[in-house]
Amino acid sequence: METTFRKRTSKATVKVVPRPETLNKELMLGGIIQGLAVTMRHFFQNVAREKPEVTINYPEERLKYPLRNRGLHRLMHREDDSVRCVACMCCPTACPAHCITIVAEETGNGNEKRPAIFEIDELRCIVCGLCVEACPCDAIRMDTGEHMHVVDRRDDAILGKVDLMKRGISSTAVQGGEPNWQERVKTVPDPRFR
Ligand code: SF4
Ligand code: SF4
Repeated sequence: METTFRKRTSKATVKVVPRPETLNKELMLGGIIQGLAVTMRHFFQNVAREKPEVTINYPEERLKYPLRNRGLHRLMHREDDSVRCVACMCCPTACPAHCITIVAEETGNGNEKRPAIFEIDELRCIVCGLCVEACPCDAIRMDTGEHMHVVDRRDDAILGKVDLMKRGISSTAVQGGEPNWQERVKTVPDPRFR
């Protein structure tokens, strides 16, 4: 069978080749039997409990997230419970979603700044973790194991400094970096050769 399509200027010829049909294909018997076999196999496996169940009764049952799961952000504390963040702006610079807003203020000691405003729009966040990677002083983490809560208004998804610090704990990292860390690293064996 030949069909001719004519457009404004060009002409194309398409030759339609009929598919070889079989009775099996017409009736779809093979596919139906295969599908039923899979269903019955799972049915009997579940009845006999040969395999452990792979599903859980969510939300009544919840699995624990692995340690490296990225959840809601938190701002870490110093020993005196003040914020560890020094408003260096590394995290908003690294953030590809532009969802971190920081306004810095003086701390009064002449050396450091701190965030007067620290906000993260959790609905814009793509949970990439680059802010955590970029932070030089362990001030921001995503290891809370919490999801963003359901919100009615878009503004409620913006977490401020107080919300972020509520989830924070004291960090054991040395503020400002460990002095003489190069010397210590020299004494640690290279993990590749252990
Ligand atoms: S996880 Fe990624 S997108 Fe979310 S605030 Fe951090 S850098 Fe931005
Ligand atoms: S990278 Fe760390 S210290 Fe710098 S602004 Fe972000 S949270 Fe604060």
